[in-house]
Amino acid sequence: MISSKMIKLTQNNSVIRAMFEEGNRLAAEYGRENVFDFSLGNPNFPSPPAVKSALIDVLESVEPTEIHGYMSNAGFPSTRSAVADFLNGAHGVSFSADNIIMSVGAAGGLNVVLKTLLNPDDEVIAISPYFVEYGNYVGNYDGKLVVVPANPADFQPDTAKIAAAVTEKTKAVIINTPNNPTGVVYSEASLKALAAALEAKQTELGTSIYIISDEPYRELAYDGAFVPYVTKYYRNTLVCYSWSKSLSLPGERIGYIVVPSELDEYQLIFDAASIATRVLGFVNAPSLLQLAVERCVSAQTDIGAYDANRRLLYDSLTSFGFDCVLPQGAFYMWVKVPDGDDKAFVAAAKKHNILFVPGTSFACPGYVRIAYCVGKSTIEHSLPGFSKLAEEYGLEKTGLEKK
Ligand code: PLP
Repeated sequence: MISSKMIKLTQNNSVIRAMFEEGNRLAAEYGRENVFDFSLGNPNFPSPPAVKSALIDVLESVEPTEIHGYMSNAGFPSTRSAVADFLNGAHGVSFSADNIIMSVGAAGGLNVVLKTLLNPDDEVIAISPYFVEYGNYVGNYDGKLVVVPANPADFQPDTAKIAAAVTEKTKAVIINTPNNPTGVVYSEASLKALAAALEAKQTELGTSIYIISDEPYRELAYDGAFVPYVTKYYRNTLVCYSWSKSLSLPGERIGYIVVPSELDEYQLIFDAASIATRVLGFVNAPSLLQLAVERCVSAQTDIGAYDANRRLLYDSLTSFGFDCVLPQGAFYMWVKVPDGDDKAFVAAAKKHNILFVPGTSFACPGYVRIAYCVGKSTIEHSLPGFSKLAEEYGLEKTGLEKK
């Protein structure tokens, strides 16, 4: 018999993946252009040209044995320095290479951090709706995911509820801002309140409670939204960053962990996380990509196309009568299901060849997530289907679309 944990995971195979497969099936039946697949957060826009130039520069100017060889588990010192310098300039922090560990995307970084921190039965708080894999990652190290709902009015963290969920076994609180799936950016006030509550709990319980800030969407913020840098608000913060979304590189698996010197047990955590990178079998983050991001660390994707999609989708869906959260960041729209049955709503949309993910998959039924990191024409062509869906649910048009 194989691993019972894996048998369970296989049976519960992620709904998001299942939707993706369904999209391929529908595309084969109706043609790709007639299927509107909003299920996966796979960026549809190419990486900025600086990424290609950086890759070419690495291949042409660095010795192949250096590019492709083994290295220290934490990554190339030069890459880690470049990341630290960039963060210092961008956020007014003071990191050095000794605070950066290169990682295999955010997923790799989160696993390294959880492997480093957790003993069996330790608790990790997640704020629902949350990225569905957190439960699996925490389960990898026999931890327990404790789910605390966000404030339903604005999907900001509910500090009082988080504080009430903290026990002596609480090792960490995972936050994700800009947020998948709501598109909400946590405000400075929310982060200050969370920091104060966790500081108080650490003092009360005599424990260390770490914030793990999962940040693959940091640069994807609209209308100049301010995305506070979490280490500046709470001393025991580890950051898991990834270029998957910001530079459209999800298949390349490249990111980093920030391990600030102010952490309780900083040196132990840094050393353990470097070893975790090795013993989890990643050994180190992909070497070619490390050297490439070192050369284009300040490159930015033009978020204009995501912004245009966001506006078009939000204006259209609200004009059809849907109740949507206007995303401040990331590339997801969080839409309230008119009658609250998200799974039935997903099935009804599928009849119009529109695919998106039920809120149940993010531990928040009654909503759906629409990933709008797609070509604009996908949105344009999906609108008649969304309009019919609104009619089927008896929604009143607001008339805004006539503007
Ligand atoms: N965290 C969140 C909130 C995500 O949405 C994702 C990917 O969609 C990840 C982590 C994993 O990112 P990566 O591809 O960098 O591992």
